[in-house]
Amino acid sequence: MDIHLVQGDITEQRVDAIVNAANSSLLGGGGVDGAIHRKGGPDILAECRQLRASTYGKGLPTGQAAATTAGRLPARWVIHTVGPVHSATEDRSDLLSSCFRESLRVADELKARSVAFPAVSTGVYHWPMDDAARIAVRTVRETSTSVREVRFVLFDADAYAAFEQAIGASDATD
Ligand code: ADP
Repeated sequence: MDIHLVQGDITEQRVDAIVNAANSSLLGGGGVDGAIHRKGGPDILAECRQLRASTYGKGLPTGQAAATTAGRLPARWVIHTVGPVHSATEDRSDLLSSCFRESLRVADELKARSVAFPAVSTGVYHWPMDDAARIAVRTVRETSTSVREVRFVLFDADAYAAFEQAIGASDATD
């Protein structure tokens, strides 16, 4: 698998699937979620409502992932995953790891070969960027998948630098 870093907007990525840092309601929010629904159009939200009605009546649990099509976005699919809110008192890193693992599992079901991830949980869910980057890179590297390209799409230079560092650090220990 190739891992690439891009500084930019995930809604502009031409890949098989982009991952949304959704919330459990699947009914939209701010940050990445807001951008995806705004640019992707109403079809994505309609499919999210169907997912709620058919499978996730109580909402999509934290650490899990589910797919819709991508509406007007250049990607083919949106894989919605719910990151954990960072906690100073409880170690929730397994749940953050699970977001990446489960998203890749769903990508495999869709036969997606290229997947773009945002820095899940690092916005309103307050996960420290360096730690989130380490967890993201390590999990993606350790997951057995048919996905050939993982692209981390980082919104700003600090996030990009954190992922660059995480890739270097994880290389050194391989
Ligand atoms: P969460 O609720 O999981 O914390 P957010 O959407 O609030 O999710 O933020 C996750 C990360 O995505 C943050 O680092 C934020 O800066 C970044 N981000 C926001 N909009 C975009 C976008 N359009 N493309 C890529 N990353 C984005």
